[in-house]
Amino acid sequence: MPPPFAPVGFAWEVMKQRGINQLRIAGAEELLGEGGALIDATGREQLGGVQFLMVAQATRAQHTFETVIEAARMGRGVQAAMLNRGLLDDVLDIHWTAEHPEAAPARADQHDRLIALAEHEAEDKFGRVERSLTGEEQSEFSELINLYGGHGRAFKASWHRAAFSDCFGLVQKRWKNEPEAADFLDYIYEVIQRRNNLLLHGSPTAYRQVVTQRSNGRIQLNRVGPDPLWMESLAQGAGGYYLVLRVLAQEFGFDKERLARAFSSSTSYCRKLDEFPGLGDLPDEAECPCGSGRAVRQCHRS
Ligand SMILES: [Zn+2]
Repeated sequence: MPPPFAPVGFAWEVMKQRGINQLRIAGAEELLGEGGALIDATGREQLGGVQFLMVAQATRAQHTFETVIEAARMGRGVQAAMLNRGLLDDVLDIHWTAEHPEAAPARADQHDRLIALAEHEAEDKFGRVERSLTGEEQSEFSELINLYGGHGRAFKASWHRAAFSDCFGLVQKRWKNEPEAADFLDYIYEVIQRRNNLLLHGSPTAYRQVVTQRSNGRIQLNRVGPDPLWMESLAQGAGGYYLVLRVLAQEFGFDKERLARAFSSSTSYCRKLDEFPGLGDLPDEAECPCGSGRAVRQCHRS
């Protein structure tokens, strides 16, 4: 058997030589820990209905962000962006859920049933189930298909059946008292999410991330990585995770400060050097302009 072209995660061996990269990963892990603590805190009471649904959504987001961190650590920003696409959908869904506590659990059940019946029918087509759908199940299936917009649309609609624009309106509403955040939200859904879509489905934009252009214009494969997107993808993952967990904190009446602080420092670490042209002139002990609160020597110059 030929040896592997490089050990799994080898790019990190190159990246970790810089202290700031270690901080970037550690900052994201801290945010993950704060979010995990919030999720655990909800478990003190018996959960049911909409609360259970929201904690399940937050847990899924936690697992996604955990995986985004690992992908970023391996220098795989494109793959992390694919996960972020799902994570940013979760942001929309949990906002809708929080706003519709009465309707959400019922719609979750309806969609679950729609999928169970559809899968049974599909398995049956390939002779992989014991029996076909009964007449009663078939009429239930038809009703659910109609409920979800009819044939051709039913399996593209989201489980809650709300349009993107309605869900997005709810996200904006929650942030209306923080105009900077509202602007950032527009950017997420008009720019980042669109780009993540290109990366997920494969496109020249995606293929470009595995090559490096040399100063003499020559193009070469960047096979081991890291790819140029890992840092940005890590920051986007942190943003999506934070938006999900913030809703959870709000709905359960938890303190949001620790989560907000962890999010803020993790975002600071992920900023790029070139945003701060004067960085080279600052003394080592000066506060880093990224906003982390650390000395430059222990932050972007480490
Ligand atoms: Zn810094």
